[in-house]
Amino acid sequence: MQTKSQTSREAAKQRHIQRRVDAKDKSKGNDKAQHAMQAGARNYPEPPFPEQHQPKPGHEWAIEPAPLYDAPYYLGSKKLEGKVALITGGDSGIGRSVAVLFAREGADVAIVYLAEDRDAAETKAAVEKERRRCLLIKADVSEREDCRGAVETTVKRFGRIDVLVNNAAFQIHSNDFSDLTEEHFDTTLKTNLYGYFHMAQEAVPHMKPGSAIINTGSVTGIEGSKQLVDYSITKGGIHAFTRALSGNLIGKGIRVNAVAPGPVWTPLNPSDKEADDVSKFGSDTPMKRPAQPEELAPAYVFLASPHCSSYITGEILPVVGGY
Ligand code: NAD
Repeated sequence: MQTKSQTSREAAKQRHIQRRVDAKDKSKGNDKAQHAMQAGARNYPEPPFPEQHQPKPGHEWAIEPAPLYDAPYYLGSKKLEGKVALITGGDSGIGRSVAVLFAREGADVAIVYLAEDRDAAETKAAVEKERRRCLLIKADVSEREDCRGAVETTVKRFGRIDVLVNNAAFQIHSNDFSDLTEEHFDTTLKTNLYGYFHMAQEAVPHMKPGSAIINTGSVTGIEGSKQLVDYSITKGGIHAFTRALSGNLIGKGIRVNAVAPGPVWTPLNPSDKEADDVSKFGSDTPMKRPAQPEELAPAYVFLASPHCSSYITGEILPVVGGY
């Protein structure tokens, strides 16, 4: 039992601590409006960005500031030497940066894209700058025949597929749930879920032990997004698909993992959100800025390379700028 003088000494001590903390808070003033976090090899753009809105499927060449994808300080070390990767949505955004870093690690790359010829040509040039081959395939992943064609064309040209990156997506917000039409819902599911399913089912028969599938999920598949109900469903589905398929393909020696990005500066959001939302994009993360594609791509290298992740399958790797 404490005496009265002991308890009042304790209370005084607590007030003393409190006064010091209060003084610190005051001296920092409005420090709560901190700057965005920069922890990379170079400084990355911070909001506010110029207001902009684009027609679907979005063009990387038209975004301001241009997304950073070529990771000039990233050195390759043959982590994917001699391998062949097929990347859907590889013309722009995350997929483009993945294509470039895979090439820097020694892989030839085939990319599937919907309609953005100019972006695709730039990605091809960037891959070739790494002295690797790049095959461009224009196809609609929501169509089974197109997926079969993309896989066959890749195997015919490069002789094999070691890594499949399922990354193409359709995303358009719907502020009111009742405005989400059947056509909209169907397009999202057909692209984001059927597309991944078709590509995986077509590619697996060509993949040997040591191969890898990497699916692009999303933070929305973990947390949900009230304006992206349909898209969140698909991203949560992709995470479950990843876990389920990983177990199914253990016997074939094929690893299946996912990367779950937070906000990333790519054509996806300027071709979805309203212009003033685009200008604030990423400001509500703990790092107070979106990622650039080159901050995502190394996670794909890690999950693709047997040198880095041979004992990892069925995992969802969040790259979300902190919780
Ligand atoms: P992006 O616009 O650069 O890439 C999307 C790609 O999907 C485009 O290349 C487009 O050609 C392709 N595509 C769309 N519909 C297609 C179809 N029917 N058939 C074939 N290709 C089709 O945007 P991104 O942000 O790099 O997106 C890549 C992945 O990252 C997507 O899966 C997206 O859901 C995911 N993601 C993005 C963010 C972000 O903030 N940018 C956040 C979380 C997850």
